[in-house]
Amino acid sequence: MGKIVTKFGGSSLADAKQFQKVKSILELDSRRCYVVPSAPGRRFDGDDKVTDLLYRAHREQQNGQGFTATFARIRERYCEIAKELELEININEHLDEVQKDIAAGASADYCASRGEYLNGLLLADYLGFTFLDPKDFIFFNKDGTFNSERTNDALTALLKYTKKAVIPGFYGSLEEEIHTFSRGGSDISGAIVARAAKAEMYENWTDVSGFLMADPRIVPDAKAISNVTYRELRELSYMGASVLHEDSVFPVHRAGIPTNIRNTNKPQDPGTYISHTMPEDDNPDVITGVAGKLGFSVISVEKAMMNVEHGFGRRVLQAIEENGLSFEHMPTGIDTMCVVVVTADLEPVRENVIKRIVELTEPDTITIHDDMGIIATVGRGMVHNPGTAARLFSALSQAHVNVRMIDQGSSELSILVGVDSGDFQNAIRAIYYEFVKA
Ligand code: ASP
Repeated sequence: MGKIVTKFGGSSLADAKQFQKVKSILELDSRRCYVVPSAPGRRFDGDDKVTDLLYRAHREQQNGQGFTATFARIRERYCEIAKELELEININEHLDEVQKDIAAGASADYCASRGEYLNGLLLADYLGFTFLDPKDFIFFNKDGTFNSERTNDALTALLKYTKKAVIPGFYGSLEEEIHTFSRGGSDISGAIVARAAKAEMYENWTDVSGFLMADPRIVPDAKAISNVTYRELRELSYMGASVLHEDSVFPVHRAGIPTNIRNTNKPQDPGTYISHTMPEDDNPDVITGVAGKLGFSVISVEKAMMNVEHGFGRRVLQAIEENGLSFEHMPTGIDTMCVVVVTADLEPVRENVIKRIVELTEPDTITIHDDMGIIATVGRGMVHNPGTAARLFSALSQAHVNVRMIDQGSSELSILVGVDSGDFQNAIRAIYYEFVKA
């Protein structure tokens, strides 16, 4: 029988009622054998996530302020769940130990990781599953990067003998110390477990029914995306990040495992299904989604005959690299080269970047245009639908949007446009309604 790895986010496990929903979801399909929990999240608007409380307790301890009150709130969250579900585990003993460790000066990563650790203990007890501590098989390298192969070998071996397990998300070990992924990293843990288990599906249960085709704050009636490929999702990363941690895509993508984003509060919704390939004609809207982000600057370097000058592009990029910047996009013309960077990163090194580009390339002109938004219109169906670009640009012109930059990736999966921030929302709406009919 195939296996399904399920990851449940913080809001899916925020209190005893949510635990009960999780249990009934697992009982619906016996292939759901490995469960990766986050720490308890917010129960209502204005509530605190346990992870935030743990970071706060750590800070208070470091500043010598005392963390007793904060820790009492953390304790209450876990004890309430244990009591309401009538669990056998003595969670207070585990909480005592964590409190002692924080008082003894444990690291921020250790403190934060206890959110998932303690929730995992409760969930394993509630479900009757084996508890596996990721410190024993999720490994980080000395430089803090994730050691995927060592982890995969250790975890594959372990899962062979473990039929049903709860594996807390978010952390592993770096040598003898506990180390965490970046915030939201339980998504990554879930993907790692899915790969090691050779799962047929990675289900990521959260509090939304998958991705929408556009940001609902800009397009209030945005439709849900039912199918998307991993490559499209990557192109849509501006919008995906709030639903799924970007780094969680890699392990499952590489292992050929599809991901299904599901809603714990509406388990009947099919959610968004992410996989490698889809039939190209399954998408009636031509586009899969439109996503954008503000806060970019475009550095344009112009020089006549730049196209025949050896190493011109390399020298521009050298100036960018020397100043510790990475670039988002790089559209080029015959005599111009543009490099799109994040304005906040450029700000402290702006003068140096200009100086260095001038030194290295002796351009005719160099200009920096700030306050730009980049909008990615993405769709696997675009390749097979001639005229997509024409429709997109005429929709923008009808909406009086001034397009500052165009970049069509060679993947033909997306068309990127740069617009002034004042035109940003208008542009997204114009593109969306051009392609998606209500
Ligand atoms: N609990 C951690 C966080 O709040 C990790 C996660 O939930 O994925 O960032």
